[in-house]
Amino acid sequence: MAKILYGHTFATSESIRDDFVSSIFATDIEKLRSLIQRNQSRFLSLEQSLSKTKPDKDDLILTLDDGYASVYTYVLPLLEKYQVPCILFLTTDFLNGKTAYEIRLANFIANKQEIILTGQKKIDISNRIAKVDTYEKIRGLLKPWSSQKRNYYLQRIFSMNNYNEMTKKQNYYLSWGQAKELANHPLISIGGHTCSHITLRNKFSLSAYREVRDSKIELENNLSIPVTLFSYPYGGNNFITRRYLAATGYEYAFTTKQREVLSWQKEDLFQIPRFDIDKIV
Ligand SMILES: [Zn+2]
Repeated sequence: MAKILYGHTFATSESIRDDFVSSIFATDIEKLRSLIQRNQSRFLSLEQSLSKTKPDKDDLILTLDDGYASVYTYVLPLLEKYQVPCILFLTTDFLNGKTAYEIRLANFIANKQEIILTGQKKIDISNRIAKVDTYEKIRGLLKPWSSQKRNYYLQRIFSMNNYNEMTKKQNYYLSWGQAKELANHPLISIGGHTCSHITLRNKFSLSAYREVRDSKIELENNLSIPVTLFSYPYGGNNFITRRYLAATGYEYAFTTKQREVLSWQKEDLFQIPRFDIDKIV
């Protein structure tokens, strides 16, 4: 069996304690360190695991989604120290300077003590519980929307609350230069993760096809490597999007279905299951 793990961003325990945005999104880097230390020899690359006809009970494959800068800062030194391979799935818009709506929303909530969402009613978000609760409610509302609609909503509530996100602008993601360095690293493989981090679960659409194709082309052009691995944002996929991936030249695609790979021969290589690293560490 092989257990494939997926994570996103990492931070120190101090930052997770003191910074609201880190507390929402980041995994404690010390937890990853201890997971790797305890299981160093079990971590394999996808190729190593695939080359076994039957994966051993204990194979682990590390994958990280989105392209956070913390992969370069915190994770890379661990991979090098313990010689652990990793697949990095990059969302091209994030490397081009855009920020995920979840992070923009969390930053807004972090920086406010009270907010207005509709009408004049003020919502007290001065304590952490209220902040998390408000964040989760708005995130849930925006999640099924298109990126244009999410943008419109965020800009509207930001201006209603006199919040200028540009003054708090922080770069959460890798630069193309860092991505190139990682792409050339012997321990790291690069995969696609769409252009704008949309869910591909929805029915046939030209924009889904473009997201799959254009992100692959951009990664291959900017990093000068072939890109045949993919992970679905939020795990979402369907028959049509799996066909898009195959037609575009992808060979392996990873979901967020939480189960082990029992045998690569019996596995649908466009629906490879993975475990959330936060539930493992
Ligand atoms: Zn993602």
